[in-house]
Amino acid sequence: MFADSAKIFIKSGKGGDGHVSFRRELYVPDGGPDGGDGGRGGDVIFVVDKGLNTLNDFRHVRKYVAQPGEEGGKRRCHGKDGSDCIVKVPEGTVIKDAESGKVIADMSGENQREVILKGGRGGQGNMHYATATMQAPKYAQPGQPGQELFVILELKVIADVGLLGFPNVGKSTLLSRVTNATPKIANYHFTTLHPNLGVVDLGNGEGFVMADIPGLIEGASEGVGLGHAFLRHLERTKMLIHLVDVAGTEGRDPVADIYTINQELASYKPELAKLPQVIAANKTDAIYSELGAEDPVERLKKEFEPQGIRVFPISAVSGDGLKELLYYVNKELKTLDSEPVIFEKEFTPGNQSENLPFDVSRADDGAFVVEGPLIDKMLGYTNLESEKGFTFFQKFLKDRGVLARLKEAGIAEGDTVRMYGLEFDYYE
Ligand code: GDP
Ligand code: MG
Repeated sequence: MFADSAKIFIKSGKGGDGHVSFRRELYVPDGGPDGGDGGRGGDVIFVVDKGLNTLNDFRHVRKYVAQPGEEGGKRRCHGKDGSDCIVKVPEGTVIKDAESGKVIADMSGENQREVILKGGRGGQGNMHYATATMQAPKYAQPGQPGQELFVILELKVIADVGLLGFPNVGKSTLLSRVTNATPKIANYHFTTLHPNLGVVDLGNGEGFVMADIPGLIEGASEGVGLGHAFLRHLERTKMLIHLVDVAGTEGRDPVADIYTINQELASYKPELAKLPQVIAANKTDAIYSELGAEDPVERLKKEFEPQGIRVFPISAVSGDGLKELLYYVNKELKTLDSEPVIFEKEFTPGNQSENLPFDVSRADDGAFVVEGPLIDKMLGYTNLESEKGFTFFQKFLKDRGVLARLKEAGIAEGDTVRMYGLEFDYYE
């Protein structure tokens, strides 16, 4: 059940780049590397603010961006971390990935604070990259990029009670009469294309949320028409009100209708059919009984009360019987356990792959030398003897920008490339 929604853009901060510098001291001509690390990029963090009730604010401000981390400095100076972006939302806000519609987080219950997008890690300064063979590394690690995402915020209101019934039995009329909702009421089928919900306020803090679930038609459980999507909204309700047109104004048989709908529920989800039910026999004001014919309300009672389903004659139009129905439902709800419903995480915003640094330089003999942690790591897990390994190696050099950097450095066909112990000729 979603009453309110908004689409926003969120972005975490890029990590600051690592710095390249060398110690400069009097009498020390070639100091070691002393470039510091970049700062961490800011996260995008959602927190519940109990003072908020709507998502209205998000209609005005639609961009939420955390700060980037600062670059590392000389003399091992660590760059400053970017500040986080804190997004305040009302309790019960569900955050979904806009593209897939999958749930990233449900800000309910224990979930009062959640990091939705992590800021990029700061890059390591060149001080980390000195090795026995490479004493003056001229590379540092770039900061990790931030992440960005369009998300949809939906304010979740779980209906306690679902209103079931064939078209035109008076669901919308009842909802508008007893709740603060203002659904469309009309004398034709499928007027209400979205589940409507409203709060039934019985005073003194008593009351419950009621939802009109339209579109429950025969065959709905097989996914025909609108049925399926709407039935899904019913899954979290605790109790069902069967609404029937007891006056039979459209020639329907209320007893048969209840069995049909229960069959639909059972084949869609058996647990649904097991929820406590109550029957509201609507349109009593329009009952026209022929002499000697059985009173339709009595007929419903005879059929269903032995099964433990109470029948309440009502008129959504005149208001007759509504009080009895609502107080009964309210009382029953209190006997049912009310665990908060929390949606599970279905989606985790993407993690960036490692972006280790490397460096291209020229050796005295003119060979192009590629060195750095990226190459180090790749060679560690690549078997260049195998054809597969070699293909991977070539693709890796291309994808990670090594080839581009070699070209920048002016490499030509037939030139020698050296990577640690490895040497090969360059061909396009
Ligand atoms: P829904 O399709 O179940 O939402 O039905 P609606 O609420 O749109 O009502 C369908 C028609 O039945 C409308 O013309 C209503 O005015 C009428 N109606 C609803 N409740 C009553 C009632 O208690 N008595 C009478 N006489 N008509 C009603
Ligand atoms: Mg309706």
